[in-house]
Amino acid sequence: MLLAAGCDQPIDALARLPVGERDARLFALRESTFGSRLTSVATCAGCGERLELSFDASHLSAAGQQIEDELSLDVDGYQVCFRVPNSLDLMAAANLKETGAARTLLLEKCIRSAEQRGDEITAAQLPENVVERISARMREADPQADIQLALKCPVCSNEWQAAFDIESYFWIEINAWATRILGEIHILASAYGWSEQEILRVSAWRRECYLQLVNG
Ligand SMILES: [Zn+2]
Repeated sequence: MLLAAGCDQPIDALARLPVGERDARLFALRESTFGSRLTSVATCAGCGERLELSFDASHLSAAGQQIEDELSLDVDGYQVCFRVPNSLDLMAAANLKETGAARTLLLEKCIRSAEQRGDEITAAQLPENVVERISARMREADPQADIQLALKCPVCSNEWQAAFDIESYFWIEINAWATRILGEIHILASAYGWSEQEILRVSAWRRECYLQLVNG
């Protein structure tokens, strides 16, 4: 939805992009909207210290990376052809409450064909070691789909990895921005009697000046 609002491609085509490519585009859209600086907070599990993080989007996102679409694996007599997950697969898996079932569904969606010594089998019939090899190959083909931040606590030196999800990060930012704009509209409409449309047509700088005048 976010990407469709920011470009003129149909939502269905965007939903079929590999997750890493989708996220690279979200990083680019976020950069053109709010800039490249990202800030976040994390809590150390070792001592409870609250860490404030600030980093540049270019450290996390590698735009234009070519993601392989045709993946295959030949291991222990199993031949599997598959692709990396997209947003539609993740949405389908997210509807299932049980993690194991969600994992199997994701696998079924991404596997194009699976055979054991020439006989066709289902995703659920694949042994655990083959499934692990498949997920490792997916991670390798689309590294940007799972961004991990390497964190170190300055107080107790505890080190850990935290996932960074541009999708939820960007939504939260837009939400906060929209709430702030609504507050500004409320103040200016109450003070001057302007309509919402009129206030939104005023540049951000002039809006700020009027707000300062109203707030005295
Ligand atoms: Zn700590």
